[in-house]
Amino acid sequence: LKIGTPKETFPGENRVAMTPESAKQLQKLGFSCLVQSGAGTAAGFSDQAYEEAGVEIVKTAASLWKKSDIVTKVRQPDDKELGYLTKDKTLISFFNPGGNTDGLEKAKESGASVIAMEMVPRISRAQKMDALSSMANIAGYRAVIEAGNNFGRFFTGQITAAGKVPPAKVLVVGAGVAGLAAIGTSTSLGAITYAFDVRPEVAEQVESMGAEFVYLDFEEEQQDGAATGGYASVSSPEFREAQLAKFRELAPEMDIVITTALIPNRDAPKLWLEDMVKAMKPGSVIVDLAAERGGNAEGTVKDEKVVTENGVTIIGYTDFPSRMAAQSSTLYATNIRHMLTDLTPEKDGQIVHNMEDDVIRGATVTHEGEITFPPPPPKVQ
Ligand code: NAD
Repeated sequence: LKIGTPKETFPGENRVAMTPESAKQLQKLGFSCLVQSGAGTAAGFSDQAYEEAGVEIVKTAASLWKKSDIVTKVRQPDDKELGYLTKDKTLISFFNPGGNTDGLEKAKESGASVIAMEMVPRISRAQKMDALSSMANIAGYRAVIEAGNNFGRFFTGQITAAGKVPPAKVLVVGAGVAGLAAIGTSTSLGAITYAFDVRPEVAEQVESMGAEFVYLDFEEEQQDGAATGGYASVSSPEFREAQLAKFRELAPEMDIVITTALIPNRDAPKLWLEDMVKAMKPGSVIVDLAAERGGNAEGTVKDEKVVTENGVTIIGYTDFPSRMAAQSSTLYATNIRHMLTDLTPEKDGQIVHNMEDDVIRGATVTHEGEITFPPPPPKVQ
């Protein structure tokens, strides 16, 4: 079969779902590969590099979709792309199935199979296909770099002939995949790094990365996320108050705050309130990685950078992975390649869409003219 990757159509999207390297691996599985001309340019992969990897370059999106049995892409397909789907095609892409009823309906009507990369179950066996984690890791790293770029001082403390420079203090709120990447980046740049999460089980991980876990003065144990399958759930009002009181105490001291707190299927909790922003020193920076879901900080504007009256910069960009397109494309293309490896048990260039397989079943949102989202809970944890 033929696997094809079009140029992304979403404005400003620099990533690409196939790289010359992933194409070589896909050919070893028996597939032939196609890309639309220019699809990889913004991520640093030229048409020539693809050609050298044995990939056929196709001029237009229409002919790419027409020629391909399997289409791999990054962003959820737009209306025009959905129109290219037909019964025999398989699409592997982010799809946002929970918020894309129209897309699901159109895909179902076409009869195509759609594998939504954000639906890959978070079980150990599927980690190599976990594109959400790959992208969150990049976002966490880049959030710190972006903060540094907007911060007028060093991260690390220095003693220079011209005087002593104190280290920057960084607070990371939420220590999931993105938060841990931010913590690692911040400590490696030499900042004094603090981190908070409602799941106390991450404290050890935070501390092993050289950061300090922020504990609350709260009678009960810090909320135990284990009850909800390792994910955070909504905090009690008392817990939230204790958390806000702690943040209020920390705000005047922190130079950089990176917020990453999310609860599955909800708007981002508001945790860094206006009075905390006001209490921060001029020149401080907030990077709100939850901006896509409404933001953790008051004053965040999605996709923008704003400077408050008291001189605090709040960054609400939602395209951090696209800002590091070479890296994110490489990891994403590898996640996709692993998905295709599981779909091709005989390595003969033919896919077997095995709906008995937890991972394939979990990620499949349309198949054989049916909407198969949401999936049943996985059998193996
Ligand atoms: P996420 O992006 O959904 O959320 C980010 C973090 O915000 C979480 O750590 C959450 O606890 C925290 N949070 C929520 N409300 C908060 C609040 N009020 N204050 C402070 N922090 C708050 O998280 P994620 O990176 O997707 O990870 C979530 C879970 O999934 C973790 O347990 C992680 O280990 C697990 N996971 C498992 C796998 C796997 O394959 N086994 C892969 C990725 C993630």
